[in-house]
Amino acid sequence: MQSQRKHVPYKLLIFTCYGGCATGVAASKACIRIWEEHPDELKIGCLPAVVVPWKRQEILDRSEKRLLIDACAVRCGAKLMEREDVAVDGYVELTTTLRRGKQKALPSRELDELVHQTIEKEVEKLLDTGTERNTEGTAGQT
Ligand code: SF4
Repeated sequence: MQSQRKHVPYKLLIFTCYGGCATGVAASKACIRIWEEHPDELKIGCLPAVVVPWKRQEILDRSEKRLLIDACAVRCGAKLMEREDVAVDGYVELTTTLRRGKQKALPSRELDELVHQTIEKEVEKLLDTGTERNTEGTAGQT
C-alpha cells in the first residue's frame, strides 16, 4: 500500500490574516521567521485562496494540519475559514491571547518576540503531537 505521506507534502500550513496593525504585522513577520526555521515541515498558506474552489481543495489535500492566526478579535481569518468550511487544527487570536488592545501601528521588537513565541508554541504543539482536528469544519477553537 502506498504511503499517504507521499501525497501530503506539508505537515503544517500556517495562515495569518496579515492585518494592518501591530499584532498583524508581528504575526506576518513571525510566520515568515517560523517558515525559515522549519523549511522542511511547514509553509505559509494563502488565506484568501480558500475562496477559489480548486485552491481550497489543494490546501485540504496537501496539508496534514493547519494553523490559523487572527491578529484581532474581528477574527476575519476564522470567519473566512468557517464560511469556506476549511477545518483548522490550531487557532490563535492575538489581541485576546496577549491581552493587548489593537494598535494601528508597527509592532515594537518586544511585541515581535512575544508574537513569535506565541505562534512558535502552537507550531511546536502541532508538529510534536497528534492534536485533534477541529471536526466542525471551522476555526472554532476560540
Ligand atoms: S482579524 Fe483584525 S487585524 Fe486581522 S484582517 Fe481582520 S480586522 Fe485586520
